[in-house]
Amino acid sequence: MEYMGVDDKPVVETKALSKNYDIGTVKVEALKDINLTIKRGEFVILSGPSGCGKSTLLSLIGCLDMPSGGDILLDGINVSSLDKDRIADLRNSKIGFVFQMYNLLPELNVFQNVQLPLVYADIARDEREERALKLLKDVNMQHRLSHKPAQLSGGERQRVTIARALINNPTFILADEPTGNLDSKSGGDIMDFFAELNRKSVTIFLVTHNPDVHRYGNRVINMKDGRFI
Ligand code: ADP
Ligand code: MG
Repeated sequence: MEYMGVDDKPVVETKALSKNYDIGTVKVEALKDINLTIKRGEFVILSGPSGCGKSTLLSLIGCLDMPSGGDILLDGINVSSLDKDRIADLRNSKIGFVFQMYNLLPELNVFQNVQLPLVYADIARDEREERALKLLKDVNMQHRLSHKPAQLSGGERQRVTIARALINNPTFILADEPTGNLDSKSGGDIMDFFAELNRKSVTIFLVTHNPDVHRYGNRVINMKDGRFI
């Protein structure tokens, strides 16, 4: 049976979300009262200066860290109601990460790196290879299957990271400064690719401190000192 109404639920919703970091005697209020709703099919850009809390927000929405207060709902499910294993399942099945910290594994080649999430998900080799090849064609990297990450340019590496992020058919993509280390041509190619994905109805939440990429989003949110402005 078709699950009625599932598409009406926001893909991501945060309610009065806050995050503090305590390091010794210093307390950093990295996020304060963040209320965010991302609907299915949106391409939302979060912009703000370095240190304003963008990566912290992405890591909470990506269930990589726990909030200090407030709630996160993914497809209507309150993350705080889940145990660790369910959170890991949710992360692997719903979210595609394009993060700098989520680097490609240096000892694996391009083809193997893209398949890795499917290896963890116990998908058979034929299907893994077929899906990886299709996505690598989509990002124009099918001619570099046996290259190791160190043998690729920054833009090529980022395209492989995007292919890997998409291989589990995630509900949404979280991208943290995906063009941050790229020249403007490679950065433009990556943004065109995100725009193309969004036209195929993939929901995207992308963080940047570069105003040049704002025009790619349907909506731009500005952040300062841990708050939306
Ligand atoms: P942005 O991604 O916008 O540059 P971050 O979310 O990385 O900002 O950081 C927001 C604030 O929280 C900064 O002041 C940063 O120094 C602090 N911060 C980030 N991560 C940690 C951490 N693990 N421990 C302590 N402070 C942190
Ligand atoms: Mg950051």
